[in-house]
Amino acid sequence: MYITASKLYDYLQCPHFIWREAYGPQEEKIKEINPFIQMLWNKGIQHEEKVIKEIGEFTDISKGSFEERFARTIKAMEDNTPLIYQGVLYSGNLFGIPDLLKKMPDGSYVPIDIKSGSGLDNGNGKPKKHYAVQLCLYAELLQKLGFKNNRQGIVFDIHKNEVEYHLEESINNGNDISCWEFYQEIKKQTQLLLDNKIQNKPAMAGACKLCPWYNSCKKWCKENQDLTMIFYLGRTKRDAINEELEIEKVDAFSKLDTKEVIRKKKQNKNFLKSIGEKTLSKLVARAKILNDTKKPVIYDKVDFPQASHELFFDIEDDPTQEFVYLHGVYERSKTGEKFIPFVADGDTNKAEATAWQNFWNYIKSLPQDDFAIYYYSPHEKNTYQRMQRQYPEIISAEDVDNFFSNPRVIDLYQIVLKYTDWPLSSYSLKELAMYLGFKWRDDTPSGALSIEWYNKYLETKDEKILNRILLYNEDDCKATMVLKDAIYKLSAEYNAN
Ligand code: SF4
Repeated sequence: MYITASKLYDYLQCPHFIWREAYGPQEEKIKEINPFIQMLWNKGIQHEEKVIKEIGEFTDISKGSFEERFARTIKAMEDNTPLIYQGVLYSGNLFGIPDLLKKMPDGSYVPIDIKSGSGLDNGNGKPKKHYAVQLCLYAELLQKLGFKNNRQGIVFDIHKNEVEYHLEESINNGNDISCWEFYQEIKKQTQLLLDNKIQNKPAMAGACKLCPWYNSCKKWCKENQDLTMIFYLGRTKRDAINEELEIEKVDAFSKLDTKEVIRKKKQNKNFLKSIGEKTLSKLVARAKILNDTKKPVIYDKVDFPQASHELFFDIEDDPTQEFVYLHGVYERSKTGEKFIPFVADGDTNKAEATAWQNFWNYIKSLPQDDFAIYYYSPHEKNTYQRMQRQYPEIISAEDVDNFFSNPRVIDLYQIVLKYTDWPLSSYSLKELAMYLGFKWRDDTPSGALSIEWYNKYLETKDEKILNRILLYNEDDCKATMVLKDAIYKLSAEYNAN
């Protein structure tokens, strides 16, 4: 089996995926492609087509069998063709199709990938690992085939930037290894998994929900009582506990003598190094709740503000375009309950800004100091800070900061983390609200699918699709209300005891 750019990407998304694809129970794999994933593919293809249209002259090698395309690619490079589109490269166990191959003045060829994301990591401005390893693969192929490459690659990104990747440079701030060394390690692991020389375990993680193996891996994790069923206990911690404590199952972990482990940690700083004392105690407490108590727990009373107007709010946005298309509010007051949506009437900046302006006008119309706003996760705050930079005429940075630092504006997720634990593997709003008996009216409620629906709505202007989005968002807001009420009740019970 060849190592390809997409296999390297898959390995970085999930180290288990490669093995499961090759040797997993195929009958358990979800066959239908998730519409959100399909939408991302389509957008990627559209973006590539757009870039290619504007790029000027090139030699197109996108048609024909791989053998024919390979022969034509080699010939084109031998003929010093300045720009080659969709050339095929293979050698030994490596196979790659860089979007473009560009002849440089020094005679070398540089692989170029067209990406529908930012060229560098937004967090640290360093190379993106999954872009770097793919460019390394093409660079190695060029060298193996006898063409000059200075361990360089280029990414044409979504913002029309031409981002150079110097593959001998460090892959990230906290790590001394270069992109090239990182690639060699990822390539080695991928090969071992493809050859079934090593096997690794599934793990329940955020990325799993969109994966075709989700049901299969979840079943495995449940049957095996895998430790990643414990909220916040991910693959790295699981592997460390498996290895150093020789504990594989939630049941055994829930009975762990944490004092003894902490004593050992104090004696030997390298023992269970990746898990701090506090985290260990917290994870064991969660294992107990999951395995034994099977009930939510509150650790202290929570003081929610008294208010005549309670608002439960949630946004819907398309991160692939950094576009917010809906600000939904479910309002509860003495006069009753109602859903108030602020929808962008199209995918233009003007439409996005108008919806946001309307949202702020509504907030300003609330009785001063007599409202409370609940939302779930830092996403709303981060998105509003980004929007403020884009639309400073609507609201100042200071006002956005003041809004979110107002004690009446509450991120319920932080309350969940600080004060409670639940007999669940995930503390997502959906899992918690469903545990509390709330039901979404949509058959397949999902934020990712809502993005796909919105894109379809833009294409078709079908009001039924818009209504589906509104219904879904209203239910998200109501779920936030159900969760707030449940925590309020738990807190009252805690107070009474
Ligand atoms: S479901 Fe999760 S663990 Fe399983 S292959 Fe997919 S991403 Fe990996």
